[in-house]
Amino acid sequence: MTNWSLKKANEVYKVNQWGLGYFAINESGNVCVRPSADSEHKVDLKKLVDELRQRKINVPVLIRFMDILRDRIAQISTAFKNAIVENEYQGQYYPLFPIKVNQERDVVSSMLEYGKEFGLGLEAGSKAELLIVLALTLDPDTPIVCNGYKDREFVQLVGMAHKMGKKIFPVIENYDELETFIAHYKETGIMPRLGMRIKLSTKGVGKWAKTGGDASKFGLRIPEVLKAVERLREENLLDSLNLLHFHIGSQITKIKVVKQAIVETLRVFAEIVRLGAKLEYLDIGGGLGVDYDGSSQETYSTINYTLQEYASDIVYRIQQICQEKQIAVPNIFSESGRFLAAHYSMLITNVPTVSSIGPCGLEFPHPDKGYGPVKEMYDLLEGLTPANSQESFHDAVQYRSEALSLFNLGYLTLPERAYMEELYWRIMRKVYEQAQIQGLLSPEMEDLEQELSDTYFANFSLFQSLPDSWAIDQIFPIIPIHRLNEEPDRIATVVDLTCDSDGVIDDYIGEDGPRHCVPLHSVHNGNNYYIGIFMIGAYQETLGELHNLFGDTHAVQIRIQGENQYKIESLIKGDTIHQVLTYVSFNRKELLHKMREQIEQAVDERKLKLDESAQMMDLYEEGLYGYTYFEE
Ligand SMILES: *Cc1c(COP(=O)(O)O)cnc(C)c1O
Repeated sequence: MTNWSLKKANEVYKVNQWGLGYFAINESGNVCVRPSADSEHKVDLKKLVDELRQRKINVPVLIRFMDILRDRIAQISTAFKNAIVENEYQGQYYPLFPIKVNQERDVVSSMLEYGKEFGLGLEAGSKAELLIVLALTLDPDTPIVCNGYKDREFVQLVGMAHKMGKKIFPVIENYDELETFIAHYKETGIMPRLGMRIKLSTKGVGKWAKTGGDASKFGLRIPEVLKAVERLREENLLDSLNLLHFHIGSQITKIKVVKQAIVETLRVFAEIVRLGAKLEYLDIGGGLGVDYDGSSQETYSTINYTLQEYASDIVYRIQQICQEKQIAVPNIFSESGRFLAAHYSMLITNVPTVSSIGPCGLEFPHPDKGYGPVKEMYDLLEGLTPANSQESFHDAVQYRSEALSLFNLGYLTLPERAYMEELYWRIMRKVYEQAQIQGLLSPEMEDLEQELSDTYFANFSLFQSLPDSWAIDQIFPIIPIHRLNEEPDRIATVVDLTCDSDGVIDDYIGEDGPRHCVPLHSVHNGNNYYIGIFMIGAYQETLGELHNLFGDTHAVQIRIQGENQYKIESLIKGDTIHQVLTYVSFNRKELLHKMREQIEQAVDERKLKLDESAQMMDLYEEGLYGYTYFEE
């Protein structure tokens, strides 16, 4: 309790690193949010959550800070603009938002609104996404790039959109699509500006490494590139080929890979130009990473470069190769979804229950009679010193496993086994405390730390709100949003409300790199303990699913207007139970009818009184209209 400070809180939770100035800890020990790193305005998150509760919007609630979206667009556009000025680059840069990252209506339309001054465009990867993009792009100068599989209907839609005057670039992802476009052209005379995605031999790094390389799912191999160019020439359509595209995967952790990919692509670009195509655009795909864990370690969750470095390296290399080959530089599109969307939203939830696995304070008699295994364990605890703590640890593990065998053979009573286990956990706690004092961080001790950690049952579903934590062990910053002026006195593992044993968060940010548990505060009876899960704006919001029928959480959209002043722009109530039931084809009326029949039967059989039957019916019906999460 002695040397805790807000500075220490920042070191433990690394808010200043991953928060990028959008998030910080204020003097009251609460997390606050700024619209941009240099803004004077900030909103206290704890205060906001309290005020939402007064509006009867309880946790879990997804909070979307739209100002952060605006700032992200400005950041990336400025970085490329700087690089363009510095290199006297003759082309333009346009950020594209790949909407698969977050298709929420307000996100897509805000991107368009805020991005207007930067020429922001949209990228669609499926027919459904294309339909969104076509309707929303009112400005004919807004670039549209279409990736993903394209059937005839897709090609027709794109052709018509082109005829309507939209700046639309369908990207040929596999060779057959080219034939579909040519056939469509022969029928209708319509040929939009085409893009072509190439397979690079450069592979990505980290989780998405397989997106690049020869075996990647999308893109034309080099022989196919040549075949496509010749095929277009044969049809007198080579002028339609306007854009070259590559995407080597998401969250690229190393700048080296970006540089390699650019060089390889530019060589292909220059060759296609030499073969006679009018390439005017280069689409460098997504992959610009964000720092989720604030460490500079070799993890998927962080990156070894800055935004400016990324933009500068790209612009510089394109410029160099174009100069060398004496060709005009292309305009640059980038499809950085994660970068644009990750920071703007967070989930705030509470912790209704905590359970601990360590010693439970069981009282037992002093085992000084006889030499039973209980006595051995007892003596181990009594004789534990800093010098023998490692040895005692190993002995205790062995005694415990022996005790279990004895119990299974019928030689140990239940009380004896209970005492053994209680003693075991007391020893473990002491050993762990010793290791901490001595700064001993062996893998054994790390495992022990996780074993001894408390289980914090948080009011949310990992599968609905944090799918990448479950699917790909992605780290997200998870920190209390208040009480940061108090030293966290517990070590915790956060689990969700689903019955799935996979509903556990396994990785957290740690002071010295990722770790398997997180320091949190004791939860005082009756008081809410709020934790925030940050940086979930990219992929999490729409990837989530209905495991255990936990539905969408409430979502509020906030615009920061001044010091603790904000406007709620929209407030969407989360799914009710009867809504999620319809997703799995249950019908409210039918359920009510079936329940009613059973309740009437129970009344008939005198198991329920009449008023009880009414109560049961009310409870059931209220349940159907309630939130899928834990309600107070
Ligand atoms: C997913 C995807 C993106 C977005 O990648 P981020 O890593 O989020 O920037 C961009 N382009 C294509 C083709 C994609 O498939």
